[in-house]
Amino acid sequence: LLESERVAAWFGSRKVLEDISLRMESGQVTALIGPSGCGKSTFLRILNRMHELVPSASLAGKVLLDGDDIYEPERRITDTRKRIGMVFQKPNPFPAMSISENVTAGLKLTGTRVGGSEKRELIEECLTKAGLWKEVRDRLGQPGGALSGGQQQRLCIARSLAVRPDVLLMDEPCSALDPTSTRRIEETIHELRREVTIVIVTHNMQQAARVSQSCAFFLAEQGTPGVIVEAGPTAQIFSTPEDPRTADYVEGRF
Ligand code: ATP
Ligand code: MG
Repeated sequence: LLESERVAAWFGSRKVLEDISLRMESGQVTALIGPSGCGKSTFLRILNRMHELVPSASLAGKVLLDGDDIYEPERRITDTRKRIGMVFQKPNPFPAMSISENVTAGLKLTGTRVGGSEKRELIEECLTKAGLWKEVRDRLGQPGGALSGGQQQRLCIARSLAVRPDVLLMDEPCSALDPTSTRRIEETIHELRREVTIVIVTHNMQQAARVSQSCAFFLAEQGTPGVIVEAGPTAQIFSTPEDPRTADYVEGRF
């Protein structure tokens, strides 16, 4: 369980998020939806401590992973990164590194050691979970940059999985991809949710409806910080939203 409690965020003196309290349950996919600029990516970065890497950024409130505050001063950032992985809009494999080296690249960063045969098994396991194994099993030594965009994105998912995270954060993971690759990634998300808590930002309402069980609608009205207008089961958000602004947004009226 990943929870935010009354999170607020600033860039310099500008407040961009206010009072964000959200429960992101294990075994579920939580979709974050809302118009451009309402703070979805900022919130996602707060969830794995990337926010604090921006010099002008500051933060209030708490983020709890299974009850532990990830921002506690004595907690190391690498411990958080190991438990909370991230996949970005633009696939970002290490282009010159081989496909298999890409999968295990995160292990070095988090200081995890795995031996030869264990490593091969891990590579197969992660590529299988990411839905890429069959396509690359005969070319594991080729550079990551030689794959198609959709394959590169699945490679990035495999790389995230190698450190065995509890949570996978995905920021518009399909928006740079074609419909077929998008469908493959949605299938992967569907398979993964049983073992990894997934939080996905998407502008595609059909995708949010297809992949998530839980949904939060973010909105920043005219210069005010982003807030969650409404959060709840995806079916409810899409069929019987409580706030008229949610209905307008999910039905494409703004
Ligand atoms: P989109 O749907 O377009 O990706 P978003 O909901 O992800 O939008 P964010 O990228 O989180 O929105 O941005 C929220 C607000 O914070 C915006 O007003 C943006 O200009 C501002 N912002 C984001 N990153 C920074 C930064 N590094 N420095 C200053 N302001 C920033
Ligand atoms: Mg964004």
